[in-house]
This record gives sequence, C-alpha cells and structure tokens, in this order.
Amino acid sequence: MSTFVVSEPCAIFWGKILIIGNFYDHIEKMKQKEKNSAIIIPEGCERVLLHSCCAPCSSAIVEWLLSHEIEPIIYYYNPNIYPLEEYEKRKTESQRHAASLGIQWLSDDESGEYSGNGHETWLHEVNGLEHEPERGRRCEQCFYIRLLAAARKAQACGIRYFATTLASSRWKNLDQVNAAGLRAAAKANEENALRGGGQSVVFWAQNWRKDGLQERRNQLLKEYQFYNQQYCGCEFSMRKEQ
Ligand code: SF4
Repeated sequence: MSTFVVSEPCAIFWGKILIIGNFYDHIEKMKQKEKNSAIIIPEGCERVLLHSCCAPCSSAIVEWLLSHEIEPIIYYYNPNIYPLEEYEKRKTESQRHAASLGIQWLSDDESGEYSGNGHETWLHEVNGLEHEPERGRRCEQCFYIRLLAAARKAQACGIRYFATTLASSRWKNLDQVNAAGLRAAAKANEENALRGGGQSVVFWAQNWRKDGLQERRNQLLKEYQFYNQQYCGCEFSMRKEQ
C-alpha cells in the first residue's frame, strides 16, 4: 500500500486555497443575509478607512465590507501598545491579513518624529490616568488619540468615512468608542475648516459585533491562525492580565 506524503510548501499552498475558498463561500452566504442586516451602511459609502487595532478584530469586518462592495483601507495606528515587540507582532499580522486579501494597508508609525510606535507620546497623553480601570477615562483618551489620527488620515486620503475595529470588542465600552470617534471627526473637520476646507470626514458609528460578526471573528482567527494577544495593549492592561 502506498502512502501519500504532502510536502510542506504543497500543504501551505493548499491551506491558502482553502482559506480563499472559505472566504468566498462565506461572502455568498452573507449576501443572502443582507436584507436583515443590523449594520447600517452610511449613504454613498463606497470606501472606508478602517482603523484596525489588530488582525483578528479586523478580519470579520473586512470580510463584511467586501461582501457589501465597500472598499476597506486598513489604517494601523496603535501607539498604546507596549512593549514594541508586541506592537510589531500585531502589526505584522495586520499586514499579513491585508496582503492575503490584496487590500490597501496604511500606517503612520514611521512618519512621526518619534521612534518605534510613538508610545512615549501616548504615555504623555494619558498622563495622570495610569491607575484608571479598563473602560475608564484612560481608555476614553486612548480611543480618542487613535481615532483622531484615523480621522486626519481619512481626510488626507480624501476618504469620507472612517470606522474602527475597536467597536467590535466585547471587552470595550461601545459608547466610549463611538463618542471618541464622533469627537475625533468633529476635531478633524474643525482643523480642516481652519485650513480653508477640503474633504470633511464622518465617523461610521457601528456595533461591529452584530450580524454574527463576533462568531465569524472567532472562526477566522482559527482559519488564518492569527496571533491572538492576551491583553488589551498598554502596560497598565498587561499588568492586570498577567
Ligand atoms: S486598556 Fe486598552 S484601551 Fe485602555 S488605555 Fe490601555 S490599551 Fe488603551
């Protein structure tokens, strides 16, 4: 009796084909559910700058957007993450995810005046809030810092709508995330008006756990074999979890 042995490159190839096949099957199923969707697409939205905290939280949202013919542009901006090695791990996974789907991926961590992911600046911006609990005022400020950068990036790229994967996590307070996004859009538009106008931006406030996206996230986490972090991101959340 002969034994069929699959070489490692061959197994990787067929693994990728399986992921792509599953992805398109799932898109077809999601199209069927469209009429009952709890996710409301803003009027005229064809592209969205999606602030991404990590690949696992982006995966189901990106899939949903593509299935609804909305182009996602991933914006990875997370100066809250500590230490730098952890930041790099999450960033690499986010890039791998975008590359696997051929979608645009942007980040600003190398264009600033600080090295690494700008964590020193982030610490300065949450100064005095170190002892706040998760879902407290430090997190509100953290959301605002990241979403203001996303609003400015959307403006610079001429993209009207921006959204965030932070609004998909059951560990985060959705009201805080949405309030930060709306505040960030208002601030970016105010800055824009002072410069003489241009593209105004709108925050797509949405609960991204709806329509089965929470469950789909967990499936995709396994399919892609994403790195799955064990704490929110900053050193204060790390201390609590470890
Ligand atoms: S716990 Fe998470 S959301 Fe809150 S400040 Fe730290 S990194 Fe930001």
